[in-house]
Amino acid sequence: MHIVEVAAEFAPIAKAGGLGEVLVGLSRELTRVGHKVEVILPKYDFLAHVPLKRLKVEIANFSVQEGSRTIPNTMWSASSEDCSLYLLETHHPAAYFNRKNIYGEKDDIARLLYFSKAVVEYLKIKKEPIDVLHLHDWHVAAMAPLLRMLHPEVQIRKIVLSIHNVEYQGQCSVSDLEAIGLKDITLLQTEPHQYNLLKAGIEFSDAIVPVSPSYAQEILQNTHAFGLEAALRHNASKIHGILNGIDLQLWDPATDAALTKHYSGKDSFEKIHTAKQLNRESIADRFALDARKRPWIGAITRLVPQKGPERLAEGLVQTIHHGGTFCLLGSSPIPEIQTRFEELKHLHKSQSLIHLAYNEKLAHQLYAALDFLLVPSHFEPCGLTQMIAMRYGTIPIVHATGGLKDTVFDPEDEKHKKQANGFVFKEWTPESLHHTLERVFKGWHQNRSMLEPLIRHGMTADWGWEKPAQEYLKLFQA
Ligand code: ADP
Repeated sequence: MHIVEVAAEFAPIAKAGGLGEVLVGLSRELTRVGHKVEVILPKYDFLAHVPLKRLKVEIANFSVQEGSRTIPNTMWSASSEDCSLYLLETHHPAAYFNRKNIYGEKDDIARLLYFSKAVVEYLKIKKEPIDVLHLHDWHVAAMAPLLRMLHPEVQIRKIVLSIHNVEYQGQCSVSDLEAIGLKDITLLQTEPHQYNLLKAGIEFSDAIVPVSPSYAQEILQNTHAFGLEAALRHNASKIHGILNGIDLQLWDPATDAALTKHYSGKDSFEKIHTAKQLNRESIADRFALDARKRPWIGAITRLVPQKGPERLAEGLVQTIHHGGTFCLLGSSPIPEIQTRFEELKHLHKSQSLIHLAYNEKLAHQLYAALDFLLVPSHFEPCGLTQMIAMRYGTIPIVHATGGLKDTVFDPEDEKHKKQANGFVFKEWTPESLHHTLERVFKGWHQNRSMLEPLIRHGMTADWGWEKPAQEYLKLFQA
């Protein structure tokens, strides 16, 4: 099959979060099993500093119309992580992709609409038939109406939209749409004068993939659909939940260059415990912590309301109360949340590591050093951190929602007892979290051997992309 993936992220070269990891993991696996896969991304200025293989100009100087302006662009091709990349460079006066960051700019809508339009122009010039055009999130969802309504001459058999988070929708105005040639289309409307790019993708794609089966159900049952419930229900027959995987090459404690000591799920518990202790000691030395104050519980997350910052703060206090150490790696775009954690950092200096930044290397080191990873998301489309943690022998403690519910199984859950790999709290309340953490501490202090099967199941389960990629292929084929 000829599959074209279009997205704003691709890890590790252009990663803001889980989306980038999905792009590399899925594309690499689809390529490995013999499909022709092309990944199209913006050519961000920061890509000048990463080693891209076989970088060359594919098409020079093709025009894109934006409002009354005609803008020249260059499409580059390159290879990264065994995948074929196509990188769109624009010579737009607003320098849309020279911003140091992937998102968070005032003109994100204009930048991403421009990218969507430019990719359509490129596909028109290329004239190569495509079996599946796979779009990711609102960022590129406008390509669906652009292609189906304005450019039916581009030969694309099916358009598939993966939704990584319904909360982010790309709300825009009619003038934003008009800039790329889309007219006042009622199907893109959520309210009068309010247009919505994710809705554009939902209405004009042939299939919609929320990134876990539970999340697919939740958004259809009006939970966490953020106003798009009617549109999703109306398109329910197109929806197929597929759980994400993690990239097993990027996340492997047996080879991870960031770690002090390597280990794997095949090792004895003694070896695993020793290796994790050495990794913990490296962090303890660096950040003036006591590696003996255990358990080490932590989180690696964006600090936004979805991720449950209040539950994280409660978890921190309870961990310290029980003599453990809490490690939080994350930052917040919301000043009040950032300040709250700065205060906690100040208050609990010796028994916590609160690092309010984005740090890829430290993330790898923490996954290896922690005993438990707390993921108290209010809702979670899939979540990668719980799967990464399990691969690194770190036991997840999660709220029963979305992809967390589909990947983490509690020993008290009769149905999944044999696969138990973590702790799950059912209600998103302080009491429910508190009760579960008490179970964790009781297990830790009184019966630590009961934790070993959880670690073993988590480390040896198959979290890779092989299975999810097969599910995508089944859907593409259908
Ligand atoms: P989301 O995409 O909603 O942020 P996911 O769990 O799907 O959440 O993916 C998060 C990814 O981003 C994981 O790979 C995680 O390790 C990484 N990550 C999150 N916060 C940080 C941080 N502060 N520093 C380094 N990596 C981070």
